[in-house]
Amino acid sequence: MGGRDATMVLLDENGIRCDGRKIDEPRRIMIKAGGLKNADGSAYIEFGNNKILVGVFGPRDVHPKHMSNTDTGILRVRYHMEPFSVDERKRPAPSRREIEISKVIKEALEPAVMLEKFPRTAVDVFIEVLQADGGTRCAALTAASVALADAGIPMRDMVAAIAAGKVADTIILDVNNEEDQAGQADMPVGYMPSLEKITLLQLDGVLTPEEYKKCVDVGVQGCKVVYELQKKALTDKYFGKGGD
Ligand code: ADP
Repeated sequence: MGGRDATMVLLDENGIRCDGRKIDEPRRIMIKAGGLKNADGSAYIEFGNNKILVGVFGPRDVHPKHMSNTDTGILRVRYHMEPFSVDERKRPAPSRREIEISKVIKEALEPAVMLEKFPRTAVDVFIEVLQADGGTRCAALTAASVALADAGIPMRDMVAAIAAGKVADTIILDVNNEEDQAGQADMPVGYMPSLEKITLLQLDGVLTPEEYKKCVDVGVQGCKVVYELQKKALTDKYFGKGGD
């Protein structure tokens, strides 16, 4: 979260947010399964102005070999932001933030992937953020789940993700970049709707316990909407339009 800019109108007198949305309205979300010829599975997502491409490779041999596990497969995730993905050119070297988000996404995906079926192997997930506008970890996690399913990796469920938050003392769904910078709280939530399990929950900002519970609830409900779009992306590719 950046500095709190008190002059910015994050919520007007009609309950409309700075980008024209209602408090419980997600940004426009478009998910496409597949698209990368050289990957075993892939997905592209537009989540508002976020644009993210994910490629999945594996299960495949692990190099170096000592990193492999004889009991289970391993999941490796690399979240990378293109230098041109933000207004001010980002330094190309991996940042601490990218390393942390890679870890967060890996840990959020692990409960969904049946890695025990592929001992000694690795499944690699490469996330390329082409354009960032707040909420990239949620959009990336959502797309990564679709790319893993597209790769045919056995899964218990898909993880859908979206952030809840607080601006102008009001709980909102799907925090954009301005709301993240100037708002009061940002809570990314990753949820497996069929298993009814949360696999990602972070909080940046200040909430009362009641607001915290409401944010979790709003986030989980939002994940259910995202989940329908994930399933639609897969059915469009495998049973309808949009195949490649
Ligand atoms: P998330 O993208 O998951 O919300 P953060 O809260 O760390 O993760 O970042 C919020 C937003 O800040 C990003 O989506 C992006 O729009 C912007 N941002 C992140 N890193 C940079 C950077 N190095 N330069 C400019 N903007 C950035």
